[in-house]
Formats: sequence, structure tokens, C-alpha cells
Amino acid sequence: MRKTDTQGIGMTSLRTRERLIQRLREEGIADERVLEAIRKVPRHLFIDEALASRAYEDTALPIGYGQTISQPFIVAKMTEALLSDGPPHKVLEVGTGSGYQTAVLSQLVPEVYTVERIEPLFKLARKRLRELGCRNVRFKLSDGSWGWAEHAPFDAVIVTAAPNEIPQPLLEQLAVGGRMVIPVGGASMQELLQVRRTEQGYTHERLELVNFVPLVVGRV
Ligand code: SAH
Repeated sequence: MRKTDTQGIGMTSLRTRERLIQRLREEGIADERVLEAIRKVPRHLFIDEALASRAYEDTALPIGYGQTISQPFIVAKMTEALLSDGPPHKVLEVGTGSGYQTAVLSQLVPEVYTVERIEPLFKLARKRLRELGCRNVRFKLSDGSWGWAEHAPFDAVIVTAAPNEIPQPLLEQLAVGGRMVIPVGGASMQELLQVRRTEQGYTHERLELVNFVPLVVGRV
């Protein structure tokens, strides 16, 4: 990252950040690479200034347009699951939102492709990541349920909005040997699934009960 991670915050916030890492450890996040990436990415720069004092609480926060920046524990859990079979080279993220999860991923994998359907969020996330010097991320304004065919196959796919069923293009664009982490289910509660693609087909594992905003399908 180009800018220092202490930018705009004092020592108190650095301590709050350390407490968040400690809390994630206590909640079972064990992958040191993931914890280090979360320590490095300044979450307060991904939310409105009025909410910045709450940036290092383990909670989702509003980012406008009815959307939320994910809870740090969920970001950590999903990232850990994505890296669990060894670091992927190329990752597709559906639901850029604030760009926070994108920035965490950009610390950990060589190539990140991220798709968002709400234009102001897409623009703001792109600006933030540029300012932070994350050069290995490509952004697209689109309905991410169609994936990003030009850059497929992906070693990993992460979806941060919930569909009722896994969109078929995302399954098709997952490389053999790759994995996907995706919340699936109805409006208020979903199951976080880890899907692996093998030579024979797809396997599913349930990770957590989660609460994401819905994946909105259709024209942008
Ligand atoms: N990881 C993000 C989560 C944002 S909330 C963060 O921590 O900030 C989920 C995001 O998914 C929202 O920004 C929403 O606009 C987006 N989204 C919903 N349906 C989508 C779709 N079909 N394609 C792309 N993005 C979508």
C-alpha cells in the first residue's frame, strides 16, 4: 500500500485495530496471512467519516444505497476459506461495495477482478483502491451474477451478496480445483457455502449462518 496505514488516525485507533485482530483470533480466525491483511487495510477509509470511529468494531456498517460494508469477522472467515487450499492466483469478487474486502484480497492474491452493479459505489471503491496503491485489481460495473467471462476461469470466486441459488455462470467460470465462497438463501438469513470444483463436479460445505444483502439480478 502506498499510503501509510496510520493515515488520518491516531494511536488510539491503532490500539482499537489491534483489539479487532485479537477478537478475530478469539473467534477462531487462525490464518496469519488473513489477520495481517486485515491489520494492514485501513477500514476507516472505506466508510463515511461520520461512522469512522466505529470502523474497527466487529460490525457491518451502512455505506449508502441500502448496502453495507461486511463485518470484519465475515470478511476474515470468507477470505480464510478462499485461501484454505493454498493461495489462488486469480480471484473474482461479486459485490465490490465499499471495496474493503477487495483491498484485503489484493494483499493476498496476485489478481483480483471485482464486479459491482451500483455505479457510485463502483466509482468510489475504484478511487479508494487506486489511492491506496492496490494495482492488482480490475473493476467492472455490471451484474456480477454473470461473472466476468473474458477473464475466466478463476481459481477462486467470492460473492458478498446473497442469491437464492448459485448463479450458473459463476459455477462455470470456476476453474477445476478452484473454490467459491458464497452466501445462499432467503432475505434475512443465508448459509455461507464453500463450493469446490473437482474433475467430477462440485462439492458443497456449509460454513456459517450469515446475513447479507440480496444479490440483485438484472440490468444495471
Ligand atoms: N464486500 C462488500 C459488501 C458490500 S454489500 C463490502 O464489504 O463493502 C454487497 C454489494 O453487492 C453491494 O454493493 C451491492 O450493490 C452488490 N451487488 C448486489 N447484487 C449484485 C450483482 N448482481 N452484481 C454485482 N454486485 C451486486
